[in-house]
Amino acid sequence: MLSIKKTLAGVPETFVRLSDADAQLDGVIVMHSTRLGPAAGGCRFWHYPRSSDAHADALRLAEGMAYKNALAGLPLGGGKAVLKLPDGPFDRGRLMRAFGDAIKQLRGEYITAEDVGTSVSDMAEIRKRTRHVAGLSKQDGQPGGDPSPWTALGVFESMKVAVNHRLGKGLNEVSVLVQGVGHVGYALCKHLHEAGARLVVVDPRRGLAAKAARDFSATVVRCRSLDISEVQVDVFAPCALGGALSDDVAARLRAKVVCGAANNQLGSPAVAKTLARRDILYAPDYLVNAGGIINVAAEYLGWSETEVSERVSAIPARLESILEDAAKHGLSPDVAADNRALQIIAEGRNTLSCAAA
Ligand code: NAD
Repeated sequence: MLSIKKTLAGVPETFVRLSDADAQLDGVIVMHSTRLGPAAGGCRFWHYPRSSDAHADALRLAEGMAYKNALAGLPLGGGKAVLKLPDGPFDRGRLMRAFGDAIKQLRGEYITAEDVGTSVSDMAEIRKRTRHVAGLSKQDGQPGGDPSPWTALGVFESMKVAVNHRLGKGLNEVSVLVQGVGHVGYALCKHLHEAGARLVVVDPRRGLAAKAARDFSATVVRCRSLDISEVQVDVFAPCALGGALSDDVAARLRAKVVCGAANNQLGSPAVAKTLARRDILYAPDYLVNAGGIINVAAEYLGWSETEVSERVSAIPARLESILEDAAKHGLSPDVAADNRALQIIAEGRNTLSCAAA
């Protein structure tokens, strides 16, 4: 069953409750804004103790997607789907197809792709019911497939800018803690290793952490009872789930630069202030991790791989410009980025109608 609620205040624009007991589908699609085009953002499939936790996550993530897509110059609005992982056994294909049926009913207003907990094969199931999905198997010479390598590349290139800006050093002179060595984190470690950075990794999936240690001479720190702020590194790269930086962690963090792929790294807006007060450079998450959505957009809109590469290459210069803006106006980088994104949305730049998509 699909219950579509247009919000009175218009923020987010639309909240869609998904529930299909037979398929064990329980979740939500939030369309924060469709001002620039269809609300695009991946589908998170994760454990949530209560439905309200999943809804809160979706609201935050959808807003981040609206800003991310605007700042990346994409003709897309921002949205997100969050599905609760069922407690017991379930038929994954059936659940994804039911999700696809729901997306179909939204007639192109929402476009989905992978996020934490979903994969290319899930997108293939969704595609059986709707065309409003990307992150499908890659065809030769065309954008598509797992977007993580592009995300990792954008974060890596941005980290060069951030480290140079704050520490006046190259990546071969710094140590980096990568939190989460899944799809993006592992690919980021590869770039960093090749660039000569010293790596420290943490992931509760011990096999993944051990692989990063083997492949990239990384030091592994144990996840259990780990206090991120006690790890002596130059750069902290959150690449797991959101909320890696609480105010308490920010107040004690030893790293001088925070630059990673995870969405919603800051536990609250106050955390950015704490980081700025302590002269820790925070590279806004949705700015530096836009590589994946650029690839997703290219696949959906029929752009070439060259276009993806050019647009991902533009991410570090955008970070540079936001850092300059922040310094000039005495703002923290996240506020400077929010302001720029809101301006783009308000002016309706990069627009594409949902019907055209
Ligand atoms: P993933 O599921 O492949 O990897 C996440 C990893 O984090 C997993 O290995 C998991 O075990 C680990 N993890 C979970 N909790 C942890 C903890 N407390 N400490 C350390 N590690 C922990 O996901 P991904 O696709 O690599 O995405 C990582 C993050 O980047 C997510 O926040 C995602 O929303 C964001 N992101 C991903 C993309 C993309 O292209 N995949 C694009 C933009 C943003």
